[in-house]
Amino acid sequence: MTAGRIIAYIAAGLFLIFGFLFILAAFGEQFNSGWLITGFILVAIGFGLVFLGGRLKQTAQADQEVTLNIDLPANVELDSFKCENCGGALSTDNVEMVAGAPVVKCPYCGTSYQLTEDPKW
Ligand SMILES: [Zn+2]
Repeated sequence: MTAGRIIAYIAAGLFLIFGFLFILAAFGEQFNSGWLITGFILVAIGFGLVFLGGRLKQTAQADQEVTLNIDLPANVELDSFKCENCGGALSTDNVEMVAGAPVVKCPYCGTSYQLTEDPKW
């Protein structure tokens, strides 16, 4: 992503430099309208690449999906997630974040309790 932007900006810089050189050269000893047009085209391409580089950044940011996953304690295995009270199978849908702490609400026995993270040794 970033490499594409850098290449685009370097190429844009080269096009702008050569574009201005062509424009300057056009007003040399003899006015050369062909060089002037070439210069303006190069400058236009240069600005186009700058614009493109800016767009590359924006699309890269848009691609980043913002996923809000409930951060469960590391010891909780999602496959075999059971209620502490009745042993009923629970899923992450039964977990709510209350004051920054994951709280389980069991749909079977109605118990709600906080998930505690055991220290990992
Ligand atoms: Zn339960």
